[in-house]
Amino acid sequence: MSGKSQWIEHEYFRTYRIATRVEAICLNPVNYLRELEALFLEDGILAFVPSWQKDTALHRIIRYVADDFFAEDTSGPVCVPWGPDPVHPQWILPVDLALHLYGLVEEPEFFIPEERELIRGEDGILRQRTPTWVEDACYEHHQDMMLTQIYEDLLTRIAEEVFFVMFLNRRALEGLNRHLAGRLQDVDPGYLAEEDEEAARLFSGAGELKRVRPPVWAKRAVFYRERGRCASCRTDLSGLIDTFPDANYDHMAPLAKGGLNDLTNLQLLCGRCNLKKSDKSVVSSNRYRRWY
Ligand SMILES: [Zn+2]
Repeated sequence: MSGKSQWIEHEYFRTYRIATRVEAICLNPVNYLRELEALFLEDGILAFVPSWQKDTALHRIIRYVADDFFAEDTSGPVCVPWGPDPVHPQWILPVDLALHLYGLVEEPEFFIPEERELIRGEDGILRQRTPTWVEDACYEHHQDMMLTQIYEDLLTRIAEEVFFVMFLNRRALEGLNRHLAGRLQDVDPGYLAEEDEEAARLFSGAGELKRVRPPVWAKRAVFYRERGRCASCRTDLSGLIDTFPDANYDHMAPLAKGGLNDLTNLQLLCGRCNLKKSDKSVVSSNRYRRWY
């Protein structure tokens, strides 16, 4: 946790809306192949390959979806009111509201122009603008925004919040990891470009990553999510009752089938369930303890 606060101040900006889209992608990735295309262009899957990145596979998908929403806002465009006067507000895009909410800017820099505005041509004559000029202006604003650090920071903050909500959803995480595993299986490290040499070294063979033991922070995150119990049969693995708990940190999408060394691909299993599973495809459970 070096240098990073262990606390998240949630703004809940679109958290559930983004989570809903991400969940749909995780459970039915085949329905979203077109939407996901840009993410996996030119060996984009290699970004997911390094072991135990704190910026997990789920964080990446969330940022991608959040960015997509902001891009979608520019068509229409989606306007949110801004300013002290509720009767005559200025209008801004959701992205500028989000930047303000997260304390990344004080004031929005871009206001959605009023449609009836006229433009003075070089000849000095006022003319109507093209029918889509407001949308075009919003789109350009988003394009410029995408290149800025504050926008990256915004997506990072949103990803942290959505991750917090979704990390409990083992079924969705398993779906995501199976999909990514399917993509990884198509990668032959022997055929990767020179600049991907580092990624190639992480493979044990075609379509398979080397096993790297999960670090303590990843184990702890999974252990606390499962409340110290086997995710399948609920056996207590906390070590409070049993002196020799047989806790196994299992790759839901197995390495042998292209699974990633990623936090979102882990679950806690007892020895018996882990043996039963071995490399066969056993789905994770969606069973949780009640809060009270
Ligand atoms: Zn078990």
